[in-house]
Amino acid sequence: MTYTFAELDKWDKDYVWHPFTQMKTYRQERPLIIERGNGSYLYDIEGNRYLDGYSSLWVNVHGHNHPELNQALTDQAAHIAHSTLLGAANVPSILLAKKLVELTPAGLDKVFYSDSGSTSVEIALKMAYQYWKLKDAERYADKNKFISLREAYHGDTIGSVSVGGMDTFHTIFKPLLFERIEMPAPYTYRMTADNDPETCKVHCLTELEAILREHHEEIAGLIIEPLVQGAAGMLTAPDGFLHGVRELCTRYHVLMIADEVAVGFGRTGTLFACEQENVKPDLMCIAKGLTAGYLPLAATLTTDDVYSAFLGEPHELKTFFHGHTYTGNQLACAVALKNIELLERDGLIETLPEKIEFLTQRLAAFRDLTHVGDVRQRGMMIGIELVRDRAAKEVFPPSLGVEHRVILHARQNGAIIRPLGPVIVLMPILAMSIDELDELLTITYEAIKTVTIEAG
Ligand code: PLP
Repeated sequence: MTYTFAELDKWDKDYVWHPFTQMKTYRQERPLIIERGNGSYLYDIEGNRYLDGYSSLWVNVHGHNHPELNQALTDQAAHIAHSTLLGAANVPSILLAKKLVELTPAGLDKVFYSDSGSTSVEIALKMAYQYWKLKDAERYADKNKFISLREAYHGDTIGSVSVGGMDTFHTIFKPLLFERIEMPAPYTYRMTADNDPETCKVHCLTELEAILREHHEEIAGLIIEPLVQGAAGMLTAPDGFLHGVRELCTRYHVLMIADEVAVGFGRTGTLFACEQENVKPDLMCIAKGLTAGYLPLAATLTTDDVYSAFLGEPHELKTFFHGHTYTGNQLACAVALKNIELLERDGLIETLPEKIEFLTQRLAAFRDLTHVGDVRQRGMMIGIELVRDRAAKEVFPPSLGVEHRVILHARQNGAIIRPLGPVIVLMPILAMSIDELDELLTITYEAIKTVTIEAG
């Protein structure tokens, strides 16, 4: 049965509450109703084609409607779609856990499944907290707080919001949240006059050390997005920053949680971002690219040391009392396994340096646009920060809706991209060809140029 655009438009507006969306504005606009996807393109119900410039919210790896991923899904469905991991195991979740332990940084030896980035973070926080209590409840009685970065985004559940640092999203919930200690984010463009990463790095690490020196006995863990703070507007960390954070966590006996939900699975040019600075976190969260954009699945990986602290007799109540109905879902694990198999077989990560270099070269022209203040790139993650006044680094007033207009302009010309505040974000599908990347950048460049000149 097919439906008209008018029917779907009406029912969408009548019944669906969209995430992170001001529904008053949304209901006044013509919706984009996606019907299908193929490779790097999405198609709406009227047959219009768009390059997927944001990897369908940073998840897609091999392209849409991939025959082998489809097959993995149907093969698994022919066996079973789901059975619980509570008191029982299943084949795909075992094989996937083994594979993840092989691929992630050395020392991460145990896998706890969940179903979204937020829940993987929630689990890491609870594990880190309980770990210290299990080690020595008296000695570590005060280790109840977490450090996170200014502008941090780790998800939308109350625990992950507690370690968030984005005022727009998080301030309203403050009375519900647990205590966090904030360290500066390495936002080089706004923190230093001359955009100098080294100055920024030294400043942030010095501040972190000061916090740790004073508070380490109260701190259970530090959570960080390695190399790039994505939702904050693609804030790319200076080289050596992540390594510096790891060293300080070790020195002050604080567990390091690497939130690789956005940066994992190739986004920064390596399978995991931590690899680039040879960092071994105590806990690591992965989601998004884990199933290549097919199904909700996440995992929290940790060390034998953390895992062992939870071992005991049932009556000792050392158990990690956490789980979700769909924990370790077979369909999702089977697709994740196929995703990894394709990554390895096709050498997708090895194709990235050429694409990343191409993007770097093409992005140089964006820097010359009057209303582009900063261009940040780490691998396949790009943020283009728009400003009304370059010298003052002043952003456009939100009432002008400049970023939204840029996105609509790009959409009219065949690409879907997204803004994050004043930043236009590009997150191309890893399997995009150079020609498709070229097309994406051409459309984005024209959209930024046209709209900002009009608004400026
Ligand atoms: N952590 C990071 C770094 C993210 O970027 C996100 C989502 O964008 C999350 C956690 C939350 O993931 P999810 O939306 O799957 O809950």
